[in-house]
Amino acid sequence: MMAGLLLARAGVTVTVLEKHPDFLRDFRGDTIHPATLQLMAELGWLSEFLELPHQKAADLHAEIDGRQVTIADFRRLPLDCRYIAFMPQWDFLDFLAAKGREMPGFQLMMDHRVTGLLKEGGRVTGVSWENGGTATGDIRASLVIGADGRHSVVRSQAGLKIIDFGSAVDVLWLKLTRQPDDPAPAMSHAGPQQGLVLIDRGHFWQCGYVIKKGRFEELKTEGLPEFRRALADLAPLPESRFEEIQAWDQVHLLSIRMDRLERWWSPGLLCIGDAAHAMSPVGGFGVNLAIQDAVAAANILARPLREGRLTGADLARVQARRMFPTRATQGLQRMMRRKRNSRGEASRRPPGFVRMIGRFPILARLMGRLIGMGFRPEHIAKDSLHAPR
Ligand SMILES: Cc1cc2nc3c(=O)[nH]c(=O)nc-3n(C[C@H](O)[C@H](O)[C@H](O)COP(=O)(O)OP(=O)(O)OC[C@H]3O[C@@H](n4cnc5c(N)ncnc54)[C@H](O)[C@@H]3O)c2cc1C
Repeated sequence: MMAGLLLARAGVTVTVLEKHPDFLRDFRGDTIHPATLQLMAELGWLSEFLELPHQKAADLHAEIDGRQVTIADFRRLPLDCRYIAFMPQWDFLDFLAAKGREMPGFQLMMDHRVTGLLKEGGRVTGVSWENGGTATGDIRASLVIGADGRHSVVRSQAGLKIIDFGSAVDVLWLKLTRQPDDPAPAMSHAGPQQGLVLIDRGHFWQCGYVIKKGRFEELKTEGLPEFRRALADLAPLPESRFEEIQAWDQVHLLSIRMDRLERWWSPGLLCIGDAAHAMSPVGGFGVNLAIQDAVAAANILARPLREGRLTGADLARVQARRMFPTRATQGLQRMMRRKRNSRGEASRRPPGFVRMIGRFPILARLMGRLIGMGFRPEHIAKDSLHAPR
């Protein structure tokens, strides 16, 4: 959406296909990072954007060795907004979609699933789509951007080679009503407390419970009472509070992967975001990284697309620009993962790197910079400053 919006803003004709009829899905990573807020400011949309309901977190906390410590501090960032805004991602995407519709040449096709790539003479020339099983069609384009996430159809159809870093864990997401007398740490994010992340979403807690990959079916066999006990063991809330989890359909399994394409492009095709490099939720880097890829892609590609002279070298430039932040962020995520024994059980202690953050506050500021801004923050190029319709 972001890449499409910026390209349309720069005068390129764009069609964005989204397989769902709306953006109303839970647990998408509802973090709007300071760098993304800065982009909203650069686009002149910040005050309008901040009118959408959100919670602010100027720092993130975790329990390390039984102590609450700050693991990321955004207060000193050289940006307009020195906090993460927790906002439902559907609000964010609806906002971008509305802005897109103001641009000439921007078209959003909801409920349109990309099913395959069109190819001619070794070059990708478009996509085929289907609409809720009722209609099918093709769209031809001088460039297809695969931004279809960690189970990307585009990248698998393109046959691009994947380097898989594996993941020993999955996450179960669920909601729990937040009560006024719940412990209220001075931030909107608490965790990971031995595998449980609690995000304060105002009237509810968004809970992420980390499990060994494949263990969800075993948990179901063990039963809900045992599951509620396991959650209560980790949460700073009494066990009775988990009684509201009465059915497994309140618990959503999100599979985690961490991987990277060796080459993000082929003639006529570019992958960005999770389609180019699937991110784990550790540290909450993925949404910002995907948006930064989109900005870099629009900055580099707008002119050659507009002038009809796009080459493989342009696509390679996007990868070259975004490879360092991707490698560095994935390296950091791997350092932040818990060690596991040969049976796949996670160590009760956080990794050494995370314990160091607890000991040296300057590291929390560094983490604030890396989570909040990323390794190579992108800015809206002057070239794309075109007036909306
Ligand atoms: C459990 C979990 C929690 C996470 N929490 C956070 C967090 O708190 N903060 C954070 O920064 N990152 C988080 N991440 C990582 C983050 O979700 C991703 O890195 C980020 O969403 C990548 O953005 P993207 O736009 O590339 O892909 P996505 O957000 O996955 O978006 C892909 C879009 O493409 C659509 N699509 C897919 N296939 C097709 C198709 N064939 N045709 C048309 N449309 C299609 C999808 O419906 C979707 O709208 C989390 C990841 C997981 C697994």
